Amino acid sequence: MHKTVQNLINIKNKIEENNQSYNAIKIIAVSKTYPIEKITPLIDYGHLDFGENKVQEAIEKWSEVKIKKQKIKLHMVGKLQKNKVKFAIKIFDYIHSLDSISLAKKIADEELKQSKKVKIFIQVNLANEEQKSGIQLEQLDELYQYALSINLHIVGLMCIPPESEDPVKYFKKLKLLNDQMGLKELSMGMSADFMQAIENQTTCIRVGSNIFGRRS
Ligand SMILES: *Cc1c(COP(=O)(O)O)cnc(C)c1O
Repeated sequence: MHKTVQNLINIKNKIEENNQSYNAIKIIAVSKTYPIEKITPLIDYGHLDFGENKVQEAIEKWSEVKIKKQKIKLHMVGKLQKNKVKFAIKIFDYIHSLDSISLAKKIADEELKQSKKVKIFIQVNLANEEQKSGIQLEQLDELYQYALSINLHIVGLMCIPPESEDPVKYFKKLKLLNDQMGLKELSMGMSADFMQAIENQTTCIRVGSNIFGRRS
């Protein structure tokens, strides 16, 4: 069995040992920086959810594959530049990084033009980190209400906790906000902390290096 497939199975086993069922949790295999040859074993195994953080890279790697395997869902997990939205809507099924009103407007415009809807997470900058993307907590409700008013399909919240801190308090906070807003999906947990995210009822984990190995 290919190493990446084994790694994915190990993650599923770990979820099952500690929790109930991995079927309730979407494992997004974050394949950014890896060439498609490295990803093919997982595709052949039948894995369906993959994440990328650059629009151009996603188009180059996934355009053909997605035509052949229409069940594959592609998740945009990185910062989305407004001038790339047109291409992002074409290739992605989910966007995990909505963080401004102007980006929301741009997405809605493109969805209309392309007659396509994507599922969207609002990324929240919970720790008010200066360099991080994500909407500030104080502006979250305004962005959410605006997104609803222009018919974006908001499915949940997403966060990336500060690297140097214990992620658990951020996971708890995001879960609470998500419930208060009546949202069903939650995008939190990466290679280093996906089990803690699962303990806090995440529905999507975004795992890269634990599946594909360290990025150079
Ligand atoms: C790269 C990336 C991941 C995956 O990170 P790993 O630590 O390799 O699992 C998850 N989420 C986002 C937003 C990323 O950019």
